Amino acid sequence: MEPDIVTTVHLVILGRQGSGKGTQCVRLVEAYGMVHVSTGDMLRSAVAAGTELGREAQAIMDAGDLVPDEVVNGIVAERLAMPDVVEHGVILDGFPRTPVQAQALEDMLDSTGTPLCGALNLDVPVDVVIGRMLERGRVDDTEEAIRLRLDLYESETAPLLSWFEDRGMLKVVDGLGSEEEVFDRLCTLVDGVLA
Ligand code: AMP
Repeated sequence: MEPDIVTTVHLVILGRQGSGKGTQCVRLVEAYGMVHVSTGDMLRSAVAAGTELGREAQAIMDAGDLVPDEVVNGIVAERLAMPDVVEHGVILDGFPRTPVQAQALEDMLDSTGTPLCGALNLDVPVDVVIGRMLERGRVDDTEEAIRLRLDLYESETAPLLSWFEDRGMLKVVDGLGSEEEVFDRLCTLVDGVLA
């Protein structure tokens, strides 16, 4: 059977670390049935499992630096080829993070004939995300690592906004307000993409 391209959504969610992407992804998955693929979660699982990838990534992650593009591109390409993603679509969280990754994603999706439907940018100011990250207290959330991750976001990831905008795919969502309010805004955009 041909895949139903109208109901299979392939989305990217962008936003600074601490913008609430992870929480909102869980809710979007419940509502729309796509698969949540978080490169941060995949890398943390690899670290916990002590795989070769995990050993390679751990020090980089602890420092708040970026794992090399070719490593991350490889794990995403493998994940996108899995049957659950092919059947239900995906919301990518934490990827792409650099223009090289964005180009790789475009190539991956082109080769499967499932173009990206949109990039949702969950917009939360820097001072708000710093406060949230310090509160959640994850092991890699030291002040120094947070600062480096936010600097990298501005230098590497923020340029992706224009990359997606140039392709008519960028949708900006105000990430301030209650979880419910932000979720409603996201749903309006996803419904628009699916319409
Ligand atoms: P996150 O959970 O998205 O904040 O990711 C945690 C850490 O995993 C980041 O600080 C990076 O070290 C690494 N990481 C996650 N996604 C990527 C990516 N797309 N490219 C490079 N490094 C990544």
